[in-house]
Amino acid sequence: MATYHQTVLEINLNALAQNFQYLKSRLQSKTRFLAVVKANAYGSDAIKIAKKLEKLGADYLAVAYTDEGIILRENGIKAPILVLHPQIENIDKCIDYSLEPNLYSFATLRYFLKLTSKKNTVNYPVHIKFNTGLNRLGFVEEDVFAVSEILNKTSNVQPISVFSHLAASEDLDEKKFTLQQIKRFNSIIEKVKETFQVKPLFHLCNTSGILNYPEAHYDMVRSGIGLYGFSNIPSFQKNFCPIASLKSVVSQIHTISKGDSVGYNRAYICKSESEKIAVIPVGHADGINRTYGNGNGWVTINGKKAPIVGNVCMDIIMVNTTHLSCKEGDEVLLFGKNPTAETLSEKVQSISYELITSISPRIKRVFIEKS
Ligand SMILES: *Cc1c(COP(=O)(O)O)cnc(C)c1O
Repeated sequence: MATYHQTVLEINLNALAQNFQYLKSRLQSKTRFLAVVKANAYGSDAIKIAKKLEKLGADYLAVAYTDEGIILRENGIKAPILVLHPQIENIDKCIDYSLEPNLYSFATLRYFLKLTSKKNTVNYPVHIKFNTGLNRLGFVEEDVFAVSEILNKTSNVQPISVFSHLAASEDLDEKKFTLQQIKRFNSIIEKVKETFQVKPLFHLCNTSGILNYPEAHYDMVRSGIGLYGFSNIPSFQKNFCPIASLKSVVSQIHTISKGDSVGYNRAYICKSESEKIAVIPVGHADGINRTYGNGNGWVTINGKKAPIVGNVCMDIIMVNTTHLSCKEGDEVLLFGKNPTAETLSEKVQSISYELITSISPRIKRVFIEKS
């Protein structure tokens, strides 16, 4: 095992490949795979991850914003890239960088058509999103005819796909709602087939949709969190491996006595005769936010849990190591295989997505890949 003398986010590209292959194994062979690499590939490294996913055979990539797509193009990514939320201010850059915008409203559709007409594009690929119950971005079902009328009048753009997004695909208590979303999407598909001149790809499922609703895979699925190692469904979790591990090191160890305090605002007071406190160089500026302080979060040192004592500082946390043997320079695990980011984040009413995407860019990304 490599040792580092600083805090690093270790990213295991073999684990990424394993998660990709497992998700693929849940699909029919003709179903396309769109890999979501928004938010720096869920806090890891969008360029490295996108390159690896291209090699693995992902058919499509998706980012949230246009600028995220530009970075991928500037670094040689060739796969088609769907921009999920191209904002009007940036949408013209989509064309310069061969990025495929999601057009989710009449305003975005009309604006993009104006741009493509000015640039005389031919069949520029666009994606049309419908709202089926999440009430985030998207046209409503009743808009299909008006949208098709607009699209059928132009050859500047071509609707490559029509899609929607599930609100609670991981939660089987909401199965009735999800089935209603699927039904509404089916009805949109019927209307699209009747009115669009070309047959687009249809897609609906995110990671937990892929796992829970195999009947709703349609032509393509979109996976983010599963690629990074989380299924959101306990019975499936054994098939996934978190790709990112946040590792640090013991910078210093103090022995404190009864009545001594630790950290800002003296939030922790030593109640026993003597305690051993280790100082770890990672803090709220790195994404370990203050809610993890005061015993809510912990780190693992030499296989044992050491609770965070007192308040999380900007660059540092202090942990209680009285009960375990450790020395300065020892490796510290914040999350990875055990505990996972999901387990740790649950302690502060958060989710894996939030914790892994919060790890600040000042933390060095280190890649491991065994051939
Ligand atoms: C982020 C996102 C996804 C990926 O969802 P996961 O739960 O991470 O698999 C898929 N589709 C859309 C529209 C998204 O915004």
